Amino acid sequence: MRDETKLLEWLEPDAAKTRQDALLRRHLKHAFEHSPYYRETLAPFAGRLSAITGDTLAELPTTDKRMFAERTQDFLAAPQREISDIVFSSGTTGVPTPVAYSRADMERLAFNERISLRACGITPDDTALITCTLDRCFVAGYAYYLGLTTLGAAAIRNGINTVESHAAVMRRLHPTVLVGVPGFLFRLGRHLHETGQSELAESVRTLVCAGDPLHDRSMRQLPVTKALESVWNAKAYSTYASSEIVTSFCECTAQQGGHLHPELAVVEILDERGNRLPVGEVGEVVVTPLQVEAVPFVRFRTGDMSFLIDAPCPCGRKSVRLGPILGRRNQMMKVRGTTVYPAAFLNALDAIPGVAASFVTVRGGEDLSDRVTVTAAVKDNSLTPERLSDLLFATLRLHPAVELLPEPDIMRRIYNPASHKPRRFFDEREFPR
Ligand SMILES: [Zn+2]
Repeated sequence: MRDETKLLEWLEPDAAKTRQDALLRRHLKHAFEHSPYYRETLAPFAGRLSAITGDTLAELPTTDKRMFAERTQDFLAAPQREISDIVFSSGTTGVPTPVAYSRADMERLAFNERISLRACGITPDDTALITCTLDRCFVAGYAYYLGLTTLGAAAIRNGINTVESHAAVMRRLHPTVLVGVPGFLFRLGRHLHETGQSELAESVRTLVCAGDPLHDRSMRQLPVTKALESVWNAKAYSTYASSEIVTSFCECTAQQGGHLHPELAVVEILDERGNRLPVGEVGEVVVTPLQVEAVPFVRFRTGDMSFLIDAPCPCGRKSVRLGPILGRRNQMMKVRGTTVYPAAFLNALDAIPGVAASFVTVRGGEDLSDRVTVTAAVKDNSLTPERLSDLLFATLRLHPAVELLPEPDIMRRIYNPASHKPRRFFDEREFPR
């Protein structure tokens, strides 16, 4: 179906673009002809669809999670008998939205994951332990499984499990690759060291990370990434994907952003007003997946904020790369004219030795500036609120208000029994974005 020896990411950008434009026009035709939603919204552009290119794609309207949740059935462009897999994506209102994939979409997904995982050095000789969810209507763990097994590696589907369970599996099977969320992979590594089982870490050379970014805005490794690579003595690679766009981007062995695959998606970065931004500038990631049958999105606004990188990559691939996800669009804060995301504060706090726990609160200001407060517990008494604010300024160029609280009070706030995940950002603005 696809020639894997001639991937467009190796071609000079102009040559790749010509091939991509042909795939884009085929995608637009399919969406217009088979999805009721696109028959309606692309109707005013019907005469021009066959002339659209990656450069003129911005003439067409965008769509987002909210619209998809409202009109899920209308997006469908494949008959029921072609549907092979249905997952749920997180909705905007807390109600998940079903996303359907056809049999060809699943093959495309396997292809996407296979070329991504090969790029970070995984081969048929590898054995990979998957520590993220493979079921519960999520796609990510299963997508990794498809990629690993179709490239010829062996997969161990231990999925969401305790560190003890993963350690027991590792003792029997000596995996060379671990797949999971960076925070969890770090805990697993630390567990092995703390329980005198360090030798189990020796077989591992590759960490494929999902969910959270590994780099900051300047492409420097985050503290969690350094800790992760050090506890495993292995390389950590970032991946980014979402269930709607059915496309994933994984870092190559150079670890400098996820290569785009021109045959699988057109990626744009948009500013707040929907204008396309040049390479290097931070905006919302907007993806038009190509060769997708069942739900063929056109210009899907992911809500994730990032930027593109076009500096030459040592691996030799010519495609631009997607940087780390810096935050969600609706978490964006404006502080005295500077745009900043909660993750930047949390990463800066995590890098300060002596800070035991912390969270960030944003409230609306009287002018157009948001007011950010950092709440921290410290193990080091020299870390006064003023000193912490100065240390944060060194990284963020902003002086947030800082208040100190005992660690148990902070932990109670972060680990609210009503929510499944620890929460370290509280948005108390009257009109959050
Ligand atoms: Zn590369």
